[in-house]
Amino acid sequence: MRTKTKWSPGPGVKVLGVALTDDDSWVVSAAGPAFGVCPDCGRRSRNRHGWLTRSLQDLPVQGRTVTVKLRLSRWRCAYQKCERQTFTDRLSAVASPYERRTRRVAEIVGLLGHSAGRRPAERLMRRLGLPVSDDTILRHLKRHAAGNRPISSRIIGIDDWSWRRSWRYGTMIVDLERREVLDILQDRSVASTAQWLKRHPSVEIVNRDRCGLYAQAAREGAPQARQVADRFHLLQNLRIAIEEQMSLSGRATGRALRPDKDNEPYADTTHRRRARHAHRQSRQVVFDAVHALRKEGLPCSEIARRTGYGRR
Ligand SMILES: [Zn+2]
Repeated sequence: MRTKTKWSPGPGVKVLGVALTDDDSWVVSAAGPAFGVCPDCGRRSRNRHGWLTRSLQDLPVQGRTVTVKLRLSRWRCAYQKCERQTFTDRLSAVASPYERRTRRVAEIVGLLGHSAGRRPAERLMRRLGLPVSDDTILRHLKRHAAGNRPISSRIIGIDDWSWRRSWRYGTMIVDLERREVLDILQDRSVASTAQWLKRHPSVEIVNRDRCGLYAQAAREGAPQARQVADRFHLLQNLRIAIEEQMSLSGRATGRALRPDKDNEPYADTTHRRRARHAHRQSRQVVFDAVHALRKEGLPCSEIARRTGYGRR
């Protein structure tokens, strides 16, 4: 058995101290190496030009989040023939440039994002002490998109995603067997998706959402392929339907549990009609409340905070 007395986020990083903050998370203070290696000429430098601190999310400890405050140096290249004047510690084994989490966390974000999908992965990771937003998870998936390289995928998934939320949408195409993003299209249209499908005649199964756009694109671009609705959208439709039914009236939730013949939920059309009416009314109440707040001059963000409804 080997023991390790000094823990480190990665090679070249020296831990200076560990502290538990008031909000129950660990902060690890660490510093980069005592010399730099110029990326252009490969020579060492101890001529320090300045400091910078990177804040990196690391693997959790005892279920609590860990942040590494990593102090890095900016060095001067002393070699006269080298064109580079200054450079910063890279430490690419610890974290990619501009990444806000360590490589090992980024790997988990990618793995969980691929296997569970963005929202389930977000919930799971928060529970594990690795809070990462669903947008970040999606960004990780996009980053590993393979571009326009020739492929022979059989089973693909097509869905939209936002370049800018509520503003501009694109299309993401995923190889579901290899679990990797194949391509990202600039827009969400029948034409561009159908064109992509025509360029990839190997596709046998198209897994898509339940709006008609991609169904039409698959009919035009890949008539040979079978279309199936994906699990995420089926579950999403089911969840929305259940939520709508549950929100119709508080009574329904309580009654549904009782084996009372009169209270069988939504067994007759009259009840369904009444339920739909109640639902419409409750939406109207929300609509009126939001508009009343808007008339008071409140910004959208404040209205969203007060009502619990998102900006959209
Ligand atoms: Zn140099």
